[in-house]
Order: sequence, then C-alpha cells, then structure tokens
Amino acid sequence: MNPKRRSALQNILGIASAPLLINPIDSFGQQGLGPIDGYDLIITGGRVIDPSQKFDQIADIGIRNQKIVEIKPQLTKKSAQTINASGKIITPGLIDLHAHCYPQVSAIGLPADELVYLTGTTTFVDAGDAGANNFSAFKHYIAAQARSRMYAFLHISSIGLAGFPVGEMKNMEYANIDLAARTLNENTDILLGIKVRESLDVVGENGIEPLRRAVLAAERSGVKGARVMCHIGNAPGDLSVLLDTLRPGDILTHAYSGAGNNTVQNGKLIAAALEAKKRGVIIDVGHGGGSFDFTIAEPAIQQGLIPNTISSDLHAYSGNSPSIPYLPNVMSKFLTLGFTINEVIAMTTSHPGKIINRDPLLGTLKNGASADIT
Ligand SMILES: [Zn+2]
Repeated sequence: MNPKRRSALQNILGIASAPLLINPIDSFGQQGLGPIDGYDLIITGGRVIDPSQKFDQIADIGIRNQKIVEIKPQLTKKSAQTINASGKIITPGLIDLHAHCYPQVSAIGLPADELVYLTGTTTFVDAGDAGANNFSAFKHYIAAQARSRMYAFLHISSIGLAGFPVGEMKNMEYANIDLAARTLNENTDILLGIKVRESLDVVGENGIEPLRRAVLAAERSGVKGARVMCHIGNAPGDLSVLLDTLRPGDILTHAYSGAGNNTVQNGKLIAAALEAKKRGVIIDVGHGGGSFDFTIAEPAIQQGLIPNTISSDLHAYSGNSPSIPYLPNVMSKFLTLGFTINEVIAMTTSHPGKIINRDPLLGTLKNGASADIT
C-alpha cells in the first residue's frame, strides 16, 4: 500500500502513525483461533450427555482445530471464543437415520443445512430419495455441497422418489437389481445400503417382490454389511413374511406405524417382529407424518420391540404435519414412553453412528472427534 494512503487509513482507524503491526495473537483471535496452548472455542456450563462414554455431568468442552480436545468441569485455559450453555443439554451432533434431503429431484426432499437449526441434526441419512438413475446428482450436487454430514440409502427403484406420490414400485421395471447393486458397490463412501417402501399405495399388486429385489441388490453389490432399510405401513399380505425376509443388520423403519398391518395386532406384538429384533434386525422409528402411533408403540415396546434408533422421517409433507417431526420432538415422545434422556440421546447419536459405521468418532464427544455438537 502507498505509504501516504496507509497513514491516512491508520488515522481514520485511530491507529498511531507507526509501521502497521498487528499482534498475531489478536489477528488469529479475530478468526476464531485461540492461543497454541488454549482453545478456539469453549462451550461452558452445559449438562454434557454423551452416551458413547457414559458421560453425564455439568462440564466445559474445549475445542481446537475443529476437534474436541478436552471435556471436564471448569476448563481454565484461554479461548478465542466462549459459548455459555448453562441450563442447556449438550450432546454429540444428532444423527437422523431416516430423513429426506434431496431437494429439487426427489418430490419430498428438503435442504439438509436449512434443517440444522430447527432439528439439532448435523448428520442426515437420506432414506432412498435417490435411485441409481439420479444418485450421481445427489452425491455431487447435494451431499458434496452440504455443510451437514450426509449418507444415504439408495432406492431399489432407479428413479428414487422423483415420481412421488405415484407409487415407485407399482412398475417393477424400475427395480433393476444389477443397476442398484453396482451403484451401491461404487459409492460405499456414502451409501449404506438399499431402501425399499413396502406399503400398498407404493407397491400396488407387487407384494414383497420389491423387498426381495432390494435384498438381492444388497447381496449382489458384494459390499460387506450392506443393509436394507424397509419401510412398512399398511404392508401387503402377511407382515410376518415380510419381517422374516429381513436379515440381521437390516433396518425396519416405521416400526410403530399405525397405518394398518402393524407390528401390534389385537394388542399383541406379532411373533415375527420379536423374532426379527432377536436376530439383529434394527428397529427404527421413522416418525414421519403418519408413521408413529402411541397405541402401537406402547404395547410394542412393553412386549420387547425396543427401538435401536429414533429417526424423524422429516420431509416436505411430514414437516408440515401436526406433530412436526423435528428430531428433538420425536425424541421427547420416547421420554414419555419411559426411556431415560441418556437412552434417547444414545438412540440419536452413538447407536446410529455405529450403524453408519464409516467413522469411529461419529456420534461421540470423545477427544479427537470432530467438534460436531448439539
Ligand atoms: Zn421416509
């Protein structure tokens, strides 16, 4: 800068007309960077609940270089920034195992980043908005550009949910097993498995053939641990046959739906549901706009169908339904069903983190984990 102009600028800023020296520490501080032996950010005084390490106490969280470096009561080192969280509950960033975040292509998708402040969710698993034909755009234009962390299940229907509300499995020609298997095989960085929706309005006359193809696609992909996420709610035929098709590690979503052909019939949990739970099928909530019913959830849970994960099934329609299934609202329903706050938080942090199984420090506040905090 021209020395004359620099001196004019310094005068305007009220800085002594001397060589322009900025204290490097202050300069870093302005950028949110703390001193070398301190923190960039401390979150103080909140009730920190991290089920992954059975931690539940009032504590401070020290963050440096976007990672958690220390959690204990009253951290004393200097920090560039501080957030006072007293009176608040602090958890690992919430993980929603069933959401719909493919705006503009899926007919029901919402933009993940715009949901963060409403839902406390920082990791979204998109539940089958994309099929093999439109997955590449999801990966490159949606997931890659989101600040939220994103994973997905690929729909067995090659068009995903682009045709909603027309049932995507009324025409079985969309359920191309090899195409889905190959897409899954090539994208294990973010794809966790195959999604299928099994309800009469979706499958028409096709029964559980879409589910059978979803399982075949997961197996043919050659991807170890590839899961199938199966939606129920007025499922076709005998629900027991559908449940018996799910393998250990597969996910039953809308487990407490009251939409018809439910996991509880005449007040009794059906045997195949309990058997599925016992052999390791993951029981997921998927609340949605019409997929959770207390009169099903209460007896189901009492009779052993305990959820592994609480998810929202938030999308453009359910988000405007009366119970507004933002993840914390859905979690609070499980407090009223008798679960502890620690259990409910585990079902939206460490449990889904393990199911995603892509990063050992997802869903935890352990030292070294990314500073992904709700
Ligand atoms: Zn859904």
